[in-house]
Amino acid sequence: MSQVRLDQVTKSFGSVEVIPPLDLAIADKEFVVLVGPSGCGKTTTLRMIAGLEQTTSGEIRIGERDVTTLRPGLRNCSMVFQNYALYPHMTVAENIGYGMKVRGTPKQDIDAAVANAARILNLGAYLKRKPNALSGGQRQRVAIGRAIVRQPDVFLFDEPLSNLDAKLRIEMRTEIKLLHRRLKTTIVYVTHDQVEAMTMADRVVVMNQGRIEQAADPITLYESPKNLFVAAFIGSPSMNFIEGQLVQNAGGIAFQAEGGVDISVPTQRAERLSVAVGQSVVLGIRPEHTMVGDSNVSTVSLHVADIEPLGPYTLAIGKVGAAAFTAQIHASSRVGPDDRISVPIDTQKMHFFLKSTGDTVG
Ligand code: ATP
Repeated sequence: MSQVRLDQVTKSFGSVEVIPPLDLAIADKEFVVLVGPSGCGKTTTLRMIAGLEQTTSGEIRIGERDVTTLRPGLRNCSMVFQNYALYPHMTVAENIGYGMKVRGTPKQDIDAAVANAARILNLGAYLKRKPNALSGGQRQRVAIGRAIVRQPDVFLFDEPLSNLDAKLRIEMRTEIKLLHRRLKTTIVYVTHDQVEAMTMADRVVVMNQGRIEQAADPITLYESPKNLFVAAFIGSPSMNFIEGQLVQNAGGIAFQAEGGVDISVPTQRAERLSVAVGQSVVLGIRPEHTMVGDSNVSTVSLHVADIEPLGPYTLAIGKVGAAAFTAQIHASSRVGPDDRISVPIDTQKMHFFLKSTGDTVG
């Protein structure tokens, strides 16, 4: 069993605490992605699991073992880095087998392990090449191969796809997912790219300033963000936010804001939102929830500044009142800059956040 547990782990560099007490439990064979903006502490957390960075306090366990003070080589984790860290003068086969050679593994065992990794990663044809004769994606596969031959309990990936072009990144995403299914090991994966996180993870851990904002499966994060930070971070293009008030009127509860925004809240949600009546709230609505509506549709007036035709649909970017707003509209719509259009809102898909705390309400 190779579950990973962080209990009250902290990290300070000098007097600056970059990770306040952090608790995180990763299940055996789980694929967990740590995601968040630059500087939020993802890499530091990963490096503490690897043992490349000492914790300031707290405890890290891998399986049944307390590894908090163990050196990296004894933790049975393999780390794959963004820059691949391959030896340029060695062939692919030598790079993959290097760690085993250093540990004095017999040559025939190394050869068998290298052949197995090459088969899994489709590198068989390249074993005699040097890294400079490989594409970025092939180099990254060699780096992963080197991690595989160690048969680690836990794979740690630190932004492994950042140096690849967009198309290759998507291909490697699938490859790493397949690899996880095949090897059945625990993976902790760091990225700043929320799409990468959402497409790969069993569970996404959204970090901000060293803290966990929310840890959940991708669909839960998308549909039920706990707060404004997660709502803004997850989804592309990002959720629209309009500041306003919830008011009680004859017809029930409505959201009102500058720019003539007046949207009735569906009755099923009114009870849970009643606590926020009279308070400043932020309405969140994703661009993709502005096109298709059912009976629960309301409209806002969008002053269009720009149009982005994406093929299957078009994005209309502009303002609703003072708030920046992006709407997904039909590809066939004849809308241009400076038009004012009426945008349907799927009121079942609205999110509300308390302005005072940023927490989701209702
Ligand atoms: P990125 O996506 O940019 O890599 P990250 O979320 O991985 O960011 P970390 O690299 O973990 O963030 O850094 C977290 C914070 O700790 C940052 O504010 C960073 O400046 C600081 N930090 C990291 N390493 C050190 C160090 N060796 N000495 C001092 N401060 C450090």
